[in-house]
Amino acid sequence: MPELPEVEALKEFLAGRAVGTRIVRVLPVAVSVLKTYDPPVTALEGREVTGVRRFGKFLDIATDGPHLVTHLARAGWLQWKDTLPDGPPRPGKGPLALRVALETGEGFDLTEAGTQKRLAVYVVEDPALIPGVARLGPDPLAADFDEERFAGLLQGERRRIKGALRDQSLIAGVGNAYSDEILHAARMSPFKIASSLTPEETRRLYEALRGTLTEAVERSHGLAAGRLKAEKKSGLRVHGRTGEACPVCGDTIREVSFSDSSLQYCPTCQTGGKPLADRRMSRLLK
Ligand SMILES: [Zn+2]
Repeated sequence: MPELPEVEALKEFLAGRAVGTRIVRVLPVAVSVLKTYDPPVTALEGREVTGVRRFGKFLDIATDGPHLVTHLARAGWLQWKDTLPDGPPRPGKGPLALRVALETGEGFDLTEAGTQKRLAVYVVEDPALIPGVARLGPDPLAADFDEERFAGLLQGERRRIKGALRDQSLIAGVGNAYSDEILHAARMSPFKIASSLTPEETRRLYEALRGTLTEAVERSHGLAAGRLKAEKKSGLRVHGRTGEACPVCGDTIREVSFSDSSLQYCPTCQTGGKPLADRRMSRLLK
């Protein structure tokens, strides 16, 4: 799933190619991809792309008319095309969700793998009209996102830190993968209650949050859209690496269920060497 660093890289990539060119056609291909109807997608045709921005994990393509905003969800991606194929795309079971053609003959596809279709596209006069954007908490890479602000967000937060970090209304842009990475970098148990962090732990987590995301953004910088996914995977230290050796201490990376998915962590680095109990498993065994 694209998170803050990948969407940031897609933003830079797209800004370098699309800004200053006109949109010729926007073709929603998947049935449920378009979440708004007023203004219609045709309102984007003939409009010039004036900028590309990121809000959390949302990508905002601004024009001299309405904005085209997308959330790539779990399995969505943006594929740049130097030349778009002739003829209209065929609606069907393929991954193509929406195609944007530019006056240069280039364009891009929004695609989504798998059967669960969650990729969302909005055509709006103002991105703040999208509930998911309006709800977003502060961006952790913003210049004014300092340690004090972060500590304030955790105050009175009774959830486990893993859940708090990926709550978009608390902090924008961190998902399942980078929350695992941030907690590993902070040497912290994902099951710790957010409000119970000491000032020293809060500082460590703040530094891990900024450091991990900044590093990932820098690694992705200048990469073509097509190479970002592989880059994300290769840069992850614990997420998706169950059974592999921790690159810091060599212990075996473990997995435990959490919320609607699972998380990965290193027992030696994060939980004093003790594996976390899998609550889903113990429920099933009762
Ligand atoms: Zn370790």
